[in-house]
Amino acid sequence: MIGAVCPGWGRAPKAILVVVLGALLGACDPHDRVKFTNPSSTGEIGILLDGTVDGSGENDKKYITTADGHVDPGGVTSGANNEVIAWQKRRPVALEESVGWTAGKEDVTVPFANHMGIPFEVWLVKGPTADRQAQAVAACVKLDQIWRDERMGAFISSFSMNDVTGDPDAADFHDFTCAKAADIKTDIGFNASRINIYYVDRVDFGTGFGTGKGVWCGGGLVAMGRTTSDHLSAHEAGHGFELDHVNSLTTNFDTTNVMHNASNNREWLTEGQTFRAHLEPNSAINDLYALRPGLPTRDCGNLSETVSLKAVVEFGREAVPFLLRAVAVGPSPERVRSFDSSYRQRALNALVAIGPEYVVEDLRTVGDSAEDADLRKWIEDAVRKLSGGR
Ligand SMILES: [Zn+2]
Repeated sequence: MIGAVCPGWGRAPKAILVVVLGALLGACDPHDRVKFTNPSSTGEIGILLDGTVDGSGENDKKYITTADGHVDPGGVTSGANNEVIAWQKRRPVALEESVGWTAGKEDVTVPFANHMGIPFEVWLVKGPTADRQAQAVAACVKLDQIWRDERMGAFISSFSMNDVTGDPDAADFHDFTCAKAADIKTDIGFNASRINIYYVDRVDFGTGFGTGKGVWCGGGLVAMGRTTSDHLSAHEAGHGFELDHVNSLTTNFDTTNVMHNASNNREWLTEGQTFRAHLEPNSAINDLYALRPGLPTRDCGNLSETVSLKAVVEFGREAVPFLLRAVAVGPSPERVRSFDSSYRQRALNALVAIGPEYVVEDLRTVGDSAEDADLRKWIEDAVRKLSGGR
């Protein structure tokens, strides 16, 4: 199913921006039209169309709107798949499924939902308060700018800041790992109906503590170190919207993509990413904020599941924290779901391929911090096997 029903990961706008002149010239054929309800007043609309266009089967054929705001795709008849996906600034991606293309002339209408407001809860854990506040404001501005520029169709409706630097428990979380996720919720505070961002001092996601590191722990929780960049917030929030790292997709992606894991210049989201952020059932837009009631969802497959773990192995030592988390929490390392031993086994095999000598100790640490007894047992067995069967 993957790839067949969801647009690709790569970036479409450049192609979208190439106006299809043939579609503008052939005015005598029974051309169909794609129209839109509730468009914004900002910029052209780009679509990906599936169907048979002028006799040729098309998957994700790209168009942009003409000056009067509709798309003339040519003569479209039924194909292997029949749908239109549309993007515009200040509108969530719109999907019109099962379009009834016929040999006649159709006007197909794609409805846009309203620009989506998404609230966040922010906790300033490590003072000085003014510094953390400035850092959080910069992150909010950057995230909102990226969303607006990249046709995410969402804006930040609230970035409520709680100054908890004086909380007697705050110091317990100045050095943060996801093992402290449950405690910070109860000791510091947590808004269960939002993504929560904690500004601490240092974060460790498996490679040691650093002030410039941030982490998505799953369960609506992000932690950010004291010197994290503004664009890292967009990255960590992206995990909450079911977006995975794109590092292994080197043909179409580089460090300018928001979901690159190590970057000083994150700016872009692709149409494939905004599609996933809205359509994936486990995206916070659906399973936390419930902002798309009644609209279709689509399981596009998670990168960490679809990109072979073998590819991850090519990163060598760098891949170890990722793989350890894969072992620790199963599919989608940052989305704690059911125990999935086959996924863990593949991750473990990858660890073995990298070389077990420096993995065993780290894996043991994961085992020590695992709350789930079955998981702890599984990791103990894995450690034994990696250590040579002892
Ligand atoms: Zn990440």
